[in-house]
Amino acid sequence: MYPRAFAYHRAKSYAEAVSLLSELGEDAKFLAGGQSLIPLMKLRLSAPRHLVDLNFIPETSYIRGNGKLRLGAMTRHSEIAASAEVARLAILHDCAAGIADPQVRHMGTIGGSIAEADPTGDWAPVLLATGATVKVLGPAGERMIEIGDFILDAYTTALEAAEVVTEIAVPLTAGRSGGAYVALKRCAPVYASASVAVQLTLHDDETCREARVYLGVLGLTATRVEAAEESLRGHAMEEALMARVRQAVMDVAQPAGDMRGSAEYKRQAAGALAKLAVEAAWRRARGEQVEVTHLYA
Ligand SMILES: Cc1cc2nc3c(=O)[nH]c(=O)nc-3n(C[C@H](O)[C@H](O)[C@H](O)COP(=O)(O)OP(=O)(O)OC[C@H]3O[C@@H](n4cnc5c(N)ncnc54)[C@H](O)[C@@H]3O)c2cc1C
Repeated sequence: MYPRAFAYHRAKSYAEAVSLLSELGEDAKFLAGGQSLIPLMKLRLSAPRHLVDLNFIPETSYIRGNGKLRLGAMTRHSEIAASAEVARLAILHDCAAGIADPQVRHMGTIGGSIAEADPTGDWAPVLLATGATVKVLGPAGERMIEIGDFILDAYTTALEAAEVVTEIAVPLTAGRSGGAYVALKRCAPVYASASVAVQLTLHDDETCREARVYLGVLGLTATRVEAAEESLRGHAMEEALMARVRQAVMDVAQPAGDMRGSAEYKRQAAGALAKLAVEAAWRRARGEQVEVTHLYA
């Protein structure tokens, strides 16, 4: 189906984009990679009268590392997957490289993804596990929002009218830290059926000092599994610990059954993914090079 007719506006700066959206009001939307918005418009589930294109604003797509890894909001998933800077935070690479197919990864942006807040999107659990911050610009100026305060519910964020996401900053971990993100997918171009993001820091004796464990896709927002984090802290990696983590994840996961699988299938999948993610994160925290790929079934 064709989208409803709309007027197209090309912003030359974020400030102009914000002022255009303020003038045009609720019937206007920003256009980033178009990988969520355009399909919704074609289905007429979204019918904005104005689109304000962010694609021609200079200096919006970048990856810079200086204490934090700063990702411009218009940075494409494919650029993140290919970045040598991002290799310092392998969990970001796991996420970006596993999103859909090359076409989607070449168009879709990290800023658009978090602004969309699709509960089946991959970025939320990863950015929550890594403690990211979101920079936004609006009519009242600039503000920084912790990712946990940014994503409020399914398709709902803390963005106020005419606010645009300009940057995502992820703390660069020092010392013995590592993370991993693993998802279960039916095939490459579809959203995941279940996913788990883990970020760990180890003591010198290789016991776990700090852990963050988030489930993706299985609820309206990514779910923190504090019981799994608690089981990990102070312990060495061993089979019995992995069994406790797996159980903690399965206890918290409350997926809904759908075309991607029954609720019980997804719950079991989340437990298995948690084990894989913890093991990979732990090995990375020890300094090992570990390649993580999503599972397809
Ligand atoms: C076939 C297919 C498969 C996909 N599979 C996956 C997947 O497996 N995992 C996954 O995570 N994603 C997946 N996606 C979505 C993809 O990751 C998109 O990149 C993402 O959803 C939206 O990013 P975008 O840049 O395309 O945003 P757009 O579609 O352009 O915009 C999405 C929404 O965000 C708003 N917006 C965009 N940029 C900003 C900004 N900077 N500030 C404020 N608001 C903004 C827009 O107004 C719009 O409401 C898939 C998409 C397709 C088409």
